[in-house]
Amino acid sequence: MMHLEEGRYKIDGVDVLDLINQYDSPLYVYSAETMKMQYEKLSKAFPGVKLGLHYACKALSNVNVLKYMKQLGAGLDAVSIQEVYLGLHAGFNPEHILYTPNGVGMEEIELTVKEGVKINIDNISILEQFGAKYGNSVPVCIRVNPHIMAGGNTKISTGHIDSKFGISYYQLRHVTRVVKLYDINVEGLHMHTGSDILDAEVFIRGAELLFEAAQDFKDLKFMDFGSGFKVAYKEADITTDINDIGGKIASRFKEFCKQYGRELELWFEPGKYLVSEAGFFFVKTNIVKQTTSTMFAGVDSGLNHLIRPMLYDAYHKITNISHPTGTERIYAVVGYICETDTFGWDRKLNEVREGDILAFHNAGAYGFSMASNYNSRYRPAEVLIVNGKAELVRKRESFDDLLRNQVEIEL
Ligand SMILES: *Cc1c(COP(=O)(O)O)cnc(C)c1O
Repeated sequence: MMHLEEGRYKIDGVDVLDLINQYDSPLYVYSAETMKMQYEKLSKAFPGVKLGLHYACKALSNVNVLKYMKQLGAGLDAVSIQEVYLGLHAGFNPEHILYTPNGVGMEEIELTVKEGVKINIDNISILEQFGAKYGNSVPVCIRVNPHIMAGGNTKISTGHIDSKFGISYYQLRHVTRVVKLYDINVEGLHMHTGSDILDAEVFIRGAELLFEAAQDFKDLKFMDFGSGFKVAYKEADITTDINDIGGKIASRFKEFCKQYGRELELWFEPGKYLVSEAGFFFVKTNIVKQTTSTMFAGVDSGLNHLIRPMLYDAYHKITNISHPTGTERIYAVVGYICETDTFGWDRKLNEVREGDILAFHNAGAYGFSMASNYNSRYRPAEVLIVNGKAELVRKRESFDDLLRNQVEIEL
């Protein structure tokens, strides 16, 4: 959590401007304390069920964050073989890694089988190939698309009818045929309807379909309801009421288990919920530019470092941390990339002066992990604050990084 203390912004007791002086801008800063708080909230929200929380690696994949999640007791949700390797490197037990790829071929899946991680299969073609190769010797989880629309944004929703994710709920008959023919050991059913789920109803609606489907699979050990817990980006945002949702889902799940005849584990794969609010992205104002229509604050970053505003129209709250007493004025905050890369229009900020440090809130999830080198800019450094101490966990890139892997030929 970042707050103002005697005119200075602090995160878990660490002075932010001191951090910028030490590590320069642009800079990603994460609070381990906040991650822990979020993890504990979620852990306590589903009374009376065996809960399995798998941290969605792609949200923020710094290996120290993965190690920290492991310490908290989380498993890992990996969407690529590379994320599997990162998880293993961070010390996760393969059993605690669920590999949920999309659109990958059998070759990559075979490599993950070798690592002993849990495999989540999201199309019938692969299920057939998997069955033919492994029979019942390697258990699988099946990703079902319940066609439940999460939130209103088709860019982040993955469960709708036109979505490429999962095996349609309507194809389950076909799935059971394949499973039977190859004697596949299905130990889990999975759904992930995308981000931004507002209430228990969406979860329960999808869950009911999965409960129904479960009748065809007698050896289940777990059910995985993906993620989509909504966190606040704006002050007025409605967020997932985790205790309300948790209570309702837990009691429905227990009912289901009784009827199924065995106590299954209930799994989730939160990314944003665990790390979004834990992260801040700090940039320096290079230029304040008045045009005929707008006051622009141009910063030393852009869509290369934080692309969510441009890619998803995501709202990230912005604070001028250098000038907390400045009179509020209206700004458009823009990047330095040679593209239109607007972080936010019409933001009321304490007067922004050239050199001021601006903070983007909710920058923990899908911030650094989506960063690129576009315009041949370096990717920023990352700092993790743990036990009140700020530690550099990724160096800022340098010119060598831009040339790494480029092969200079005779011309
Ligand atoms: C991205 C992803 C998640 C995490 O989603 P959040 O909105 O960050 O919580 C979980 N499961 C799967 C399969 C994903 O692809």
